[in-house]
Amino acid sequence: MKIGMVGSGLVGSTAAYAMVMQGIGRELILVDIDKERSQAEASDILHAVPFAHPLKVRSGGYTDLKGSKVVIVTAGANQEPGESRLDLLERNAEIFEGIIPKIVQNAPEAILIVVTNPVDIMTHLTANIASNYDIPSNRILGSGTMLDTARFRALVGECVGVDALHVHAYVIGEHGDSEVLTWSLVRIGAVPLDTFCELRDLEMDEEVCADIDKRVRHAAYEIIEGKGATYYGIGSALAQLTEVILYNQRRILTVCTPEDNVAGLSNVTLSLPRLIGGDGVITTFPIPIDDAEKEALKESAQVIKDSIESLQKSG
Ligand code: NAD
Repeated sequence: MKIGMVGSGLVGSTAAYAMVMQGIGRELILVDIDKERSQAEASDILHAVPFAHPLKVRSGGYTDLKGSKVVIVTAGANQEPGESRLDLLERNAEIFEGIIPKIVQNAPEAILIVVTNPVDIMTHLTANIASNYDIPSNRILGSGTMLDTARFRALVGECVGVDALHVHAYVIGEHGDSEVLTWSLVRIGAVPLDTFCELRDLEMDEEVCADIDKRVRHAAYEIIEGKGATYYGIGSALAQLTEVILYNQRRILTVCTPEDNVAGLSNVTLSLPRLIGGDGVITTFPIPIDDAEKEALKESAQVIKDSIESLQKSG
C-alpha cells in the first residue's frame, strides 16, 4: 500500500517517520519542490526502518505517486511567530493551484488529505480543483480539528485523571481561532463530565474550563513561539488518519470536508465528527450541541466562508 507525501518539511517528514514507527502502509514517496530536502528526509527515515517496520521509503516526483491509496499534502508556507493561519491563505492557494492537478492526474484513485494551513480553506480549494477531474468531495479531506480534538481530550483527561482514550470530546468548526470546544458533549467513558466530576469529587469550574479552552485554542501559537513550528502532534494525527483509510477502520474523526449546509450556511468546509473509512468520508453525524455552541459554530463557519469568498474575489 503506497502513500504519497507532497511536502517533505517538518510536518511531512514527521508524519512519514510516525508511519514507519507504526508500520502503516508499505511504501512511502516523499515529494518536495526542494528535491535535496525530500531526498535527505527519505534517506534519514529509511535508516529508521531496520529499527521499526519494513516500509520502502524514497523521494520522487509527481509521476511516482501513481498507485497511491493516500496522498497527504503538507506543501506550502508555514506560520511565522504571531501570524494567524488565515494570513497564509494567498501564498498557499497559489501553490495548490500548481500542485493539486499534478497529484490528481498521477494518482486519480487516491484519497487526498490536506494539512497545509489554513487547512479548511485549502481543503475547500482542493475539492474545487479536484472536481474538475471528476473526483468526488468525499475523497478530499483535511486534517481539520483532529489535532485540536486531541489537545482537548489530553487536557480534560489530565484534569480528571483518566486516559485521554476514554475522554470523548470534540473540537469542531475552523482549525483556528474561531474553533468550538463542545463542552456540552464531553463524556468520560459513558458519563457526562459534570456527573463524573460529582462522582469523583473533582472541581472543574469556569476558570478551569476557560484555561483548557485557551490552551487548546492557543496551543499552536505557543509552540511556534517556543520552537518555530508544530509537527509531532499533527504527524501522529496524520499517521492515524492514513491507517484508518488504508485499513478501512471506520473511525469517527473531526476532519474537514465540504458540506452543503452548516448552521444555515451553504457550501462551507469545516470540521465535524465524521465516519472515515477506505473511501474517505462515509458520513457526517448531526451533533447535538447546545445553543451557545450552535451560535459559535455558525460564527466559525462564517469566518471560513468569508475567507473562501475573499480568495475567490482575489483569484
Ligand atoms: P515546512 O516549511 O517545514 O515544510 C513545507 C514544505 O513544503 C517545504 O519542504 C517546502 O519546500 C515545501 N513546498 C513549498 N512549496 C512547494 C511546492 N510548490 N511544491 C512542493 N513542495 C513545496 O512547513 P511545515 O512545518 O512542514 O508545515 C507545512 C504546512 O502544514 C504549513 O502550512 C503549516 O501551517 C501546516 N500545518 C498544519 C497543521 C494542521 O493541523 N492542519 C499543523 C501543523 C502545520
